Amino acid sequence: MSSIIQLLPDHVANQIAAGEVVQRPASVVKELLENAVDAKATDIKLIVKDAGKSLVQVIDNGLGMSITDSRLCFERHATSKIRQAEDLFSLHTKGFRGEALASIAAIAHVEMKTRQEQEELGTHIVIEGGKFVSQEPAVLPKGTSFAVKNLFFNIPARRNFLKSETVEQRHIVDEFQRVAMAHPNIHFTLYHNGSEMYNLPISNFRQRIVNLFAGKTNEKLVPVNEDTEILKLHGFIGKPEFSKRNRGEQFFFVNDRFIKSGYLHHAVMAAYEGLLKDGAQPSYFLYLEVPPHTIDINIHPTKTEIKFDDEHALYAIMRSAIKHSLGQFNVAPVLDFDRDPNLDTPYQYQHKTADFPTIQVDRSFNPFANENDKPAKSFSSSSGSSYPKHEAQPAWESLYVGLQHASHEIAEMSFENDAVSSSLFEETDIEQEVKRTYQIQKKYIVSPIKSGMVIINQKYAHERILYEEFLTSMTVHQASSQQMLFPLQLYYSSAEIELITELKSSLENTGFLFEAINEDNVVISGLPVNTAESEISIVLEELLSDLQDGIPDSSFSQNDTIAKSMARSLAVKTGTYLTEKEQENLVHNLFACREPNVSPFQKPTFITMSVGDIDKKFSL
Ligand code: ADP
Ligand code: MG
Repeated sequence: MSSIIQLLPDHVANQIAAGEVVQRPASVVKELLENAVDAKATDIKLIVKDAGKSLVQVIDNGLGMSITDSRLCFERHATSKIRQAEDLFSLHTKGFRGEALASIAAIAHVEMKTRQEQEELGTHIVIEGGKFVSQEPAVLPKGTSFAVKNLFFNIPARRNFLKSETVEQRHIVDEFQRVAMAHPNIHFTLYHNGSEMYNLPISNFRQRIVNLFAGKTNEKLVPVNEDTEILKLHGFIGKPEFSKRNRGEQFFFVNDRFIKSGYLHHAVMAAYEGLLKDGAQPSYFLYLEVPPHTIDINIHPTKTEIKFDDEHALYAIMRSAIKHSLGQFNVAPVLDFDRDPNLDTPYQYQHKTADFPTIQVDRSFNPFANENDKPAKSFSSSSGSSYPKHEAQPAWESLYVGLQHASHEIAEMSFENDAVSSSLFEETDIEQEVKRTYQIQKKYIVSPIKSGMVIINQKYAHERILYEEFLTSMTVHQASSQQMLFPLQLYYSSAEIELITELKSSLENTGFLFEAINEDNVVISGLPVNTAESEISIVLEELLSDLQDGIPDSSFSQNDTIAKSMARSLAVKTGTYLTEKEQENLVHNLFACREPNVSPFQKPTFITMSVGDIDKKFSL
């Protein structure tokens, strides 16, 4: 048999290798920005079109390249940054692999212009899919400009694999922020589709953070400083009360390089112990300086993970330094941070009475419902003490029974206490005497039914109710909104603003009213009914966090995601006391749902226990 192994042609090999370095437009942004930093630029412009799908361009005023280098830089493993293996242990630059430009050139149309300060003329090179198209001398400003167009033009699968513009743009902004944050001594600008998104003048670290994160104002940050032999630590941490739901504002830089480290993150969290609400994430911007020979950056191709020689020591130093800062700046949780959830139960029943807005649940959805079975009242409507219990009660019970048993049983269903009542009491006595629902441990609602009892998880049940309400109002476009007396202004990063803009109409269908969406803030003038003003920032924050991996493409799943997220944020929490009326409403509305059995996150909303089950417990 003849031999079948062949060496791949260079351009194919490059294309394959490129996939490892360049996963998306943001990877190009990262590589080009880092090259500009390595070239000692003091002014770096990033220009992006269509979230990098059409253009990523980086213009710097750095060292530039000679004629020879400007051609060589596109060769694989061509680098000016290391010469021998040992150099890897004393790196002072971001790049060192000499792979980025070769990779990018293999899968895009690249135009490079570069001039060194001492040269009169620069070089203008065009290279497409790894092939040189032209190279000419040209009159150019000092520094280098890389324009990368039509990324993945020769790898359609990759191109199609790219996420929506919002998602890709957010990845780009992430990379931009990381580089800009590490280098406040460089002037950075970012333009997207012709408009300026960031303009960050040369400043100190603190000012750079404030400029990058709208709303991350000075008073929210606490400085951290520690100087030891193996670690110099400086930077800022957020006060606990400004912690967020997601990890979007957590940054470690080691020797000016953004890195991720679960271990160091743990050290920070350990320092915050006892100061954070469950699941809350503090902001941190921490710069670590360690001797270059004590780290190994080479373990990951995209270089965001590194290995430290003495992780345990770093952990201990970090934790105690941060603890110290939190203590020194007298950071204690503010009052409303840990406040009793009862104070803002989403039902707002404590203060509201008859005129509370009505929720429209479309009960006709229920396949088991017939005219008589329909509950007469919705959750929040109120008819005071004359609530028609007899009318509503068999309704939900039969609904729920119908889901589990044959429908002919429905007719026979009635409340256990009704059966008892007819023999022992007058009808009217029962109304006052017999309680129909009981709350247990501020967590479950228990109610007797003919076959035994039903135990409802209040949180999951309410999630189901809210989820269906939001879905209905979003798809039928008829949400009611409560006007706010004073519009609420909330600050967001530009990436978050983009998300909100994209979701605006869906959010409005849930009842939000946006008076304005500005560059770094939104002004909200109306809220979904049943939502307290104090909850709004949390609802939006959780929603943005749920959408971090992108807005689903279809509008159905987009609505679904929003409805789920909002239902989870607004549902009454475990540990919240519910009045009898609230308990009843919860039960009625649950069984008026289309799918009462499960929460939107597929958790059971209720279980039943038959008398038989109970008998067994008593060994009867
Ligand atoms: P690396 O950064 O790992 O060395 P790259 O492929 O990113 O590899 O770049 C190859 C070489 O091209 C660099 O080592 C550097 O000498 C040169 N180079 C790249 N970008 C610039 C720039 N903006 N200014 C000056 N030189 C650059
Ligand atoms: Mg590089």
